[in-house]
Amino acid sequence: MLSYLTIAKYLNGIRCFKRLWYEENIPETAAPTSLSQQRLFDQRAEVKNHAYHQFPDGLHITTENSEIAVQETENAMRRGERCLFEAAFRLNRTFVRCDIIQKDKNGWRIIEIRASKRVKKEYYLSLALLKHVLDEQNISVSATQLLLLNGECVYPELSNLFVIEDVTDTVSLIQKNVRYDLQSFEMILNREVAPNVLIGKNLCNLPHVCPFKARCWEAVPKNSVFTIPRIRDPEATALAENGIFHLPDLPTDFPLTPTQNIYVNSVLNNKPTINSSAIRQELAKLRYPIHFLDFEADRPAIPMFEGFTPYQEFPFQYSCHVLHPNGELTHHEYLHTNPTDPSLPLAKSLLSHISDRGSVVVYNAIFERGILKQLAESFPEYAPALQSIANRLWDQMVLLRKHYEHPDFCGSRSLKAVLPVLVPQLSYKHLDIQEGADAPAAWNLMLNTNSESEKQTWIKHLQAYCKMDTLAMVEIHSVLLAS
Ligand code: SF4
Repeated sequence: MLSYLTIAKYLNGIRCFKRLWYEENIPETAAPTSLSQQRLFDQRAEVKNHAYHQFPDGLHITTENSEIAVQETENAMRRGERCLFEAAFRLNRTFVRCDIIQKDKNGWRIIEIRASKRVKKEYYLSLALLKHVLDEQNISVSATQLLLLNGECVYPELSNLFVIEDVTDTVSLIQKNVRYDLQSFEMILNREVAPNVLIGKNLCNLPHVCPFKARCWEAVPKNSVFTIPRIRDPEATALAENGIFHLPDLPTDFPLTPTQNIYVNSVLNNKPTINSSAIRQELAKLRYPIHFLDFEADRPAIPMFEGFTPYQEFPFQYSCHVLHPNGELTHHEYLHTNPTDPSLPLAKSLLSHISDRGSVVVYNAIFERGILKQLAESFPEYAPALQSIANRLWDQMVLLRKHYEHPDFCGSRSLKAVLPVLVPQLSYKHLDIQEGADAPAAWNLMLNTNSESEKQTWIKHLQAYCKMDTLAMVEIHSVLLAS
C-alpha cells in the first residue's frame, strides 16, 4: 500500500529525489535512529507541548490514524472550534498535520512550532505546503506564522519562551512551487527504480547525515575527492559530476591549498607526511603535570536551570588524565547525576583536579575554552583559577592538523578518525556511547529514568566514553613523542 506524502517526506524530496524514493520503497535500509537524533525528536515534542499551553482554548486532535484525524478535524471545524492542535488534512496523496490552526476574523492562521531561535528555509517550505493543502480545500488562510524559541527568555520565567514570527508574505511567494513539487514527487514515487541523484558533500551530510548514506556511498573510495580537507562543496560536486572520485584521477591543474596538497600527496604516495621537528618544537612547550581534559556538555532547547536561556550550553561531565613527570598516569572525573545545575559542583571539582601549573591538553580547544569562559563568568570567585586553566590549553588537534598527515585519516582530524590509525589497540567500538553527540542524550536518559539500575548503567556508559576521550589523547601524545 502506498503511504502518504507528509511534510517530512516533502522536505526530504525537495533535498533529494532519491531519498524520497528510498523512504517509500526501502525504508528498512535506513540507518537506525541514533541517541542524539532521538533526543532531537524528544526535544521537539517537549517544545510543542510547552507551546500548546499558550493556547488554552486549543483542541488536540490526538489520534494517530490519518483518516480518523481528518474526520475529527473536519467535525471540529464544522462545530465552531476556534483553535486546533495537530489538525489533519488530506489532498490526494498528501497528508499533513498543522501544529496549530487558530481562527481569526479573516480565516485560519496556520502556526508551526519550531524548536529553534531562528527562521530556516525549510520552515517556509513546510508552511507553503500546509497553506497549499488548505487553499485547495477552500479553507481561508489569513496568515502563516512560526512560533520560535525566544533567546531572551531566562529560566525560571518561561512565560515568554516563544516569539511569533509572521512569514505570510514569504510563504505566499514560494507557495506557487508546491503544486509542481507535488506532481514531481508523485512521478518519483511511481517509479519502479530509484532516480539517479549524484551524491554530494553537503547534500548527504547536512544538516544531518542522510540515513541512506551507507547505501549511496558504498562504491565511493575511502580516500575520495570528498575527503580533501576543507574542499568546497561546489568543487567536490563538479569533480563528481565528471566522474572523478579517486584522488589519482584528480586533474593536475586542480587548485589545492598547501594543506590539501600534503593530504593528496600522502594518499598518492600511500605514506604519512610527518613534520617531526615541528612536532618536537610544539611538544617542548608542554609543562608537567600534563593534564588531558575533555568536557561533555548539554544545550537543551528549553532551559532547565536558573539563569539559563534556550540552547545555552553547560558542562555536566569531564574526564581528566594527569601525566606526572615520573611517568605516572592518574585519572580524575566528574559526572553530575541529579537534575540540578551541574556548573558549580563541576567547576569546584575541576579546580581540585587541575593544578595551578602544568599544561592542559585538549582536542579542539574552542569548545573547552568556551566552557571555561562561561564557568568563569558565572562564578567570579573562581574566575582567576578557571582563566588560568584556559590560558594553559594546548590543542592536540591543531598540532595533528598542521604537522601530521596520514592517508588513513581520510582528511579528518576527529579523534574517532585519528585514534584507530595512531593507536589501533585502543577503540571506541566496544563502548555503548561512541559519539560525543550522543553523550548529552545519554545524560538526559540517565536523569529521567525511574530505574536505579538503568541509571547506573547510563552512568557507566558516560564515564567509559569520556574517559576514553582523554585516554585517547594520552596515547596519541605518546605516539607524537616517538614520531
Ligand atoms: S545519501 Fe545523498 S544521494 Fe543518497 S539518498 Fe541521501 S541525500 Fe540522496
